[in-house]
Amino acid sequence: MDATAPITQDVMTIPRKAEDGLPNLIGMSREQMKEALIAAGTSEKQVKMRLNQIWSWLYHWGVRDFGEMTNLSKDFRAMLEEKFVIALPEVVTRQVSDDGTRKFLVRIAGGHEVEVVYIPEKDRGTLCISSQVGCTLTCSFCHTGTQKLVRNLTTAEIIGQVMLARDDLGEWPVPGAPNEEGRLLSNVVLMGMGEPLYNFENVRDAMKIAMDPDGIQLSRRRITLSTSGVVPEIARTAEEIGCMLAISFHATTDEVRDKLVPINKKWNLEVLLQSLRDYPKVSNSERITFEYVMLHGVNDSDEDAHRLVKLIEGIPAKINLIPFNEWPGAPYTRSSNNRIRAFAEIIHNAGYSSPIRKPRGEDIMAACGQLKSATERARKSRAQIAAETGG
Ligand code: SAH
Ligand code: SF4
Repeated sequence: MDATAPITQDVMTIPRKAEDGLPNLIGMSREQMKEALIAAGTSEKQVKMRLNQIWSWLYHWGVRDFGEMTNLSKDFRAMLEEKFVIALPEVVTRQVSDDGTRKFLVRIAGGHEVEVVYIPEKDRGTLCISSQVGCTLTCSFCHTGTQKLVRNLTTAEIIGQVMLARDDLGEWPVPGAPNEEGRLLSNVVLMGMGEPLYNFENVRDAMKIAMDPDGIQLSRRRITLSTSGVVPEIARTAEEIGCMLAISFHATTDEVRDKLVPINKKWNLEVLLQSLRDYPKVSNSERITFEYVMLHGVNDSDEDAHRLVKLIEGIPAKINLIPFNEWPGAPYTRSSNNRIRAFAEIIHNAGYSSPIRKPRGEDIMAACGQLKSATERARKSRAQIAAETGG
């Protein structure tokens, strides 16, 4: 690898017939797939077995061609071929950073694009996936927030991001080979573009597929959903997904949070904190992650750190300090390293883990909050921002 420049390369993708009108098996829940198979003529007696076989081909083995589903009869395969497709979003480009971070630009139906980032670490690897094209919210420090919402991603497009990353990592099991220890893609974070809780059902259904024990088999503890604080959906996340929760907290007074995370005008700190206290999964082993972006002179004082500790009292928590990732035209700058360390120290002394997030993939603009697709550059108008945030 060239030590100075990121490698950009076009990726050949298998033709995936994404848009030829037939129902896509990818993204269907087990129940939906069962109904689709019955509607396609599979008998009630056989459907359970067929469903399990197809599910395992798709999500355990990563097979994309009905012809490879060798435990199905030729006739049944021909029927599948005629009535269904196996379609993933298409990888347009892939960039590899000096530090090994991979960023995929992915095209979805309608010609829209979203970004997916893979971050390798010592004994694990985290995939950062997107839930929407753009975002309806307008957090003032976030690049995605300047982009219009184009649409919610479908369940297939969300789970498809995990599958195409596994393709790229060569991480589907090979029949007959010994089970490999340690996965390259071991964790998923919903921290890419979009507010996942404004696309609740599709995010939930995709994560159910990711967690299914006969498929991709990610543990719910290895999936983290990050939200800006859509309070009514937080309890639902605990009940219907059961994954780990991260909160884009970012401020310790309503005055500052209203500016940074405007959804705070709808659900303020008090209401948000109450919903976190009630998060039924909260226990010592299942801490909530508080994300806190460090903005010079805005939210990074010692007083802020002390207030933060007080606010979250009683909530099992880890505070993830994120040095602000600057983007062209951003209205903020990053706090100094000394300031970030001093802030971390106060939180640490109060008994909380307070890791400082290492910026990864900066050379390819792959860091948190920098994701923005080249095709959707339109900046929101002031009026539109005001209308959306009720401000
Ligand atoms: N919409 C969700 C998830 C996507 S953003 C949410 O807001 O939580 C993932 C994280 O990156 C959030 O904590 C977000 O606040 C943070 N972020 C956004 N822009 C950033 C930037 N420029 N620098 C650092 N972190 C940023
Ligand atoms: Fe949307 Fe999250 Fe960015 Fe806020 S921080 S604009 S919720 S993507």
